Amino acid sequence: MNACFRPGRGELAHLDRVSVERSFLGILRSLKSIGAAGAALAVIRERVPDHEPEPAVFETAVRFLAALDQGAPVEESLLSMQIRVLTLLGFAPTLDRCVHCGKTPARGRAASFDAARGGIVCKACGGGRVILSAGALRRWGALQSTSDLPEERWPERERQQIHDALAQLDALHATVTVRERTAAASGRWEGGIS
Ligand SMILES: [Zn+2]
Repeated sequence: MNACFRPGRGELAHLDRVSVERSFLGILRSLKSIGAAGAALAVIRERVPDHEPEPAVFETAVRFLAALDQGAPVEESLLSMQIRVLTLLGFAPTLDRCVHCGKTPARGRAASFDAARGGIVCKACGGGRVILSAGALRRWGALQSTSDLPEERWPERERQQIHDALAQLDALHATVTVRERTAAASGRWEGGIS
């Protein structure tokens, strides 16, 4: 969408002209994709401050919509997009060592995650409520350093763990209104996981 507008009074602007640059009509084929697209845009709206250009986040949103349009796995794409946006905006959690004492988790072992403390927390430092398996940690770490979106589905357990950790992070930052709106939008597709 290309929109031309002039600043108006307060938050309102004068809209001069709007044209569609690119459409993602494939998203309309499934309610799950429509819900995920709405949830993704709500996350971005909440995370990016008003009037701040964030071209990399914009590019991520376009890639995400294009992936959904082309039939990419919906939940995996949405989770990856959220991880990417957090990374781009400087909110990436620490996943390679305990945020408190710096101890690295043993290779191949799960770790516990605490969003409020910013990453994984070892047992001695109190642990966290969400468990991330070694596979989930590896996947999340890899996603923080690429803009590629997944083409394959993930094992159910990893998807659920990453989902729970991201939900915890989101609950920390989002305002109630947007959190409710995101939940309402994502509820439509979450109902489909089985
Ligand atoms: Zn520790």
